[in-house]
Order: sequence, then C-alpha cells, then structure tokens
Amino acid sequence: MSSPTATDTDPGVRRMRPFGTTIFAEMSALAVRTGAVNLGQGFPDTDGPPEMLEAAAEALRTGHNQYPPGPGIPALRAAVAEHQRRFWGLAYDPDGEVLVTAGATEAVAATILGLCEPGDEVVCFEPYYDSYAASIALAGAVRRPVTLRPSAGGRYGFDPDELRAAFGPRTRLVLLNSPHNPTGKVFTRAELAQVAELCQEYGAYAVTDEVYEHLVFSDAADVHVPLATLPGMRERTVRISSAGKTFSCTGWKVGWASGPAELVTAVTRVKQFLTYVNGAPFQPAVAVALGLPDSYYEGFRAGLEARRDQLVAGLGDAGFRVLPSEGTYFVTTDITPLGGTDGMEFCRTLPERCGVAAVPTEVFYDDPEAGKRLVRFAFCKRPEVIDEAVRRLRG
Ligand SMILES: *Cc1c(COP(=O)(O)O)cnc(C)c1O
Repeated sequence: MSSPTATDTDPGVRRMRPFGTTIFAEMSALAVRTGAVNLGQGFPDTDGPPEMLEAAAEALRTGHNQYPPGPGIPALRAAVAEHQRRFWGLAYDPDGEVLVTAGATEAVAATILGLCEPGDEVVCFEPYYDSYAASIALAGAVRRPVTLRPSAGGRYGFDPDELRAAFGPRTRLVLLNSPHNPTGKVFTRAELAQVAELCQEYGAYAVTDEVYEHLVFSDAADVHVPLATLPGMRERTVRISSAGKTFSCTGWKVGWASGPAELVTAVTRVKQFLTYVNGAPFQPAVAVALGLPDSYYEGFRAGLEARRDQLVAGLGDAGFRVLPSEGTYFVTTDITPLGGTDGMEFCRTLPERCGVAAVPTEVFYDDPEAGKRLVRFAFCKRPEVIDEAVRRLRG
C-alpha cells in the first residue's frame, strides 16, 4: 500500500475531489448569516396536503416504523403505477417495474451506478442538477454535456448538431430532466423526438428526472411529455420522480424509479446497498397523496404559476432581464442590464447588498462562459415572502 505524500494530503478519492460544498449549502448559510430572504435553495415554505400529513402521523402511531420491503411497500408501488397510468398513460407493473428510493437523488445515483461501466459516456444537458455530475464521477463514467442557451426570445434551447455530436460508440445513457432545473425549460415533443431518435440509433438507455412533472405552466411551449411515451422509448427508459416537489415535502426523501423489469433490477442491485430502504411511515402517506383528486394537482400548479408571475414582475421591475420560466420552482435572470458580469460574485454579495439570496447557475455548467451572467431565483415561497424579496431587490 502506498502512503500519503506531502503533495497529496487530501485522503478523499481523486474522482470526487472536484466537488466542494454544494452551492445550495453555501448560499443558504450566507442567507442565514445575513438575515436574507432565501430565494436560493428550492424548498417550499409551506407543508404539503393535510391528508398526506395526517396519513404519515397515523402510520407513525400505528407501527410503521421498521424496515419496509426492499422495493417499497406494495400500496406505494401500486399508487406510483396508477399515477403514471392516470396522468401519462404509461403502464408499469408495481411488482418488478417500480422501485421506491430515497428521493429522486438516490434513484438517479443508483441508475447511473447500476448501468454504467467505468469509461461509459453519459449525455446530459447543462446546466444540470448538481448531483448528476457527482453520480457520473462516482461511477467512473464520463459526462458529455450539451449546452442549453437562451435564444433571442429568451427560451432555452439546444443545437441539434451539438446533441448529435455528443453521442458516440461509448454512449451508455442520456440523462434528461424535464421540466428542467435550473432553467425552467419544458422540453417540447419535437425536442424529445430528437433525443429519442439518437438513443435508438446509438443503443443508449434514457434516464428521465421528472420531479417537476406537475409543474408546467399555462404559457409553456408544450405540455409535459414523458420521454418514455415516445415510440420505442418505454423499453429503454428509467423514469424517475419523487414526492418532494409535487407534495411540498422535500425533507421526506421518498422517490421512485419505473422501467422495464431488467432495468429496474439493475437499479435495485445498487440501491439495496446504498440505503436498502427508507421512510417507512412516509411511504403510506405518499401513496395517499398520489391518489389525491385532479383538483389538488391543478391547485398546486396554479398556485406556483401565480407566484412565478409575482416574482417575474418584481425581478423585471428591479432591472433584471428575466428569461421565460415554463415550469419548475425556478426562474433564471440575466444580470447584464444591472451591470453584472459574474453571477457567482453577484450572488456572494447580493445578501449583504439587498437582503436576498439567489444561486448562480454557472456552477451547473462545464462550459464556464455559458452561464456566467445567469442567476436563478426560487418562487416556491409564500406570496408575502416573495413580496418582501421584491421590495428589497427594488431598493
Ligand atoms: C429537487 C430535485 C431532485 C431531488 O429530488 P429528491 O426527491 O429530493 O431526491 C432531483 N432532481 C431535480 C431536477 C430536482 O430539482
């Protein structure tokens, strides 16, 4: 065994050394220190549906406190399957094609670790959710980013040639998040068709992160289209979602992966040794939530859309160039009209200057220039909190 050398004092593995503290932790800590309104990290400041909270309390009191079954409790797997049939017309067998995970984050990690050999390539759209790069690195795989850029009209898009060029003989997976965090982009059916065509041409699997599946706003370019619903895609897609965003319970960490049995088996093989299981009393509660009537989902979407409109108007008044947000909890802005040239610098000083915290999106790109002037704000907050943030930003 080799011993540490003077120039190599970090005991951590090399493949994880590029990853520091997540930007969310850094900006949230800064918000607390300065008393800033935190529009950085994307967690709601209200609780989810009362029926769900009551079901969790009931489960705690009635003995649902030990290890649940490895794939998740039958009632939740059945509810996950039924929810996908109800909203997207997708049929999955709750026994073998649905796996309950510790949030979407674990589902993404276990899928990448379960499907990628070292050196395999993963095509993903940047800016990407920050756990993607870390999970790809843990697997020893290689990310092949395709950059989303605002068009003249502001809507984020990609260059189809750049997408095609990202594919090659080592492509194993395409990792697609729609509706997309941090941009608020909703991929259109036409854009998804390009991804689907390349997946099939190169024999790649798709992994879809659809945690914002119920947050597509009325003025989006398209409705939400799960990639798995496109011809030839169900059999090669692991579809991932979670309760955290849809039911305002990000601390519960109950998510799921659905797909053909052989893919779900490969994911389960890894998942069982990461956490084994989680959230025993929350699983029956999420099953209740998934079965809520359409009025819940509609009210949730309309509420977030109203708060998006409120924040977008305020950011515009404060002088930002506001890029369109078609879905999710987030809106991105260009700081150029305010004289800003560096989003990181802007966000590090914003709490001190105006009492509001935001997140620079440049940290979600491999291309350091692409997101340099872009800053993300979260609107999953109570209207009075958004009002206060807007008042401060105007000042
Ligand atoms: C919040 C978020 C997640 C994490 O989901 P959990 O269920 O909390 O693990 C995953 N992907 C995206 C794009 C997110 O915004």
